Amino acid sequence: MDPFRARLTSLRSVRRSGKLAQPRRPRFALNSAQRAAILASTDRRCHICGGLIDDAKWQADHVLAHSAGGEHRLSNYLPAHAVCNNYRWDYLPEEFQIILKLGVWARTQVELDTAAGKLISERFGAYDKRRMARRKRA
Ligand SMILES: [Zn+2]
Repeated sequence: MDPFRARLTSLRSVRRSGKLAQPRRPRFALNSAQRAAILASTDRRCHICGGLIDDAKWQADHVLAHSAGGEHRLSNYLPAHAVCNNYRWDYLPEEFQIILKLGVWARTQVELDTAAGKLISERFGAYDKRRMARRKRA
């Protein structure tokens, strides 16, 4: 296996074993005052992309993932767009950094219209179209 793929596989394995080792703790619902305090903590900005949160479709994201032992206290929450939070998922920091680097590299390939960029554009376009169609049906 090439070293890059091996590293990704290893990180996934580490993440999954950490998840299994965590005791299950009950989740609790944040009340409206707590949600307002979380949203105000970044001046209504998504802590992942930095974009303005201008509708009700935002999520209180655990800074340290719940699945990695993050606690349910206000200081462990930051506001995030639902789409940003769903893509961040519970990746380990190193995994998420690799994903960001891959995304930036892929974007450059598309913009430069390289062979890889053409393939990424075609395949990602089709993938995203299917994904959006599934979301509309749900
Ligand atoms: Zn965002």
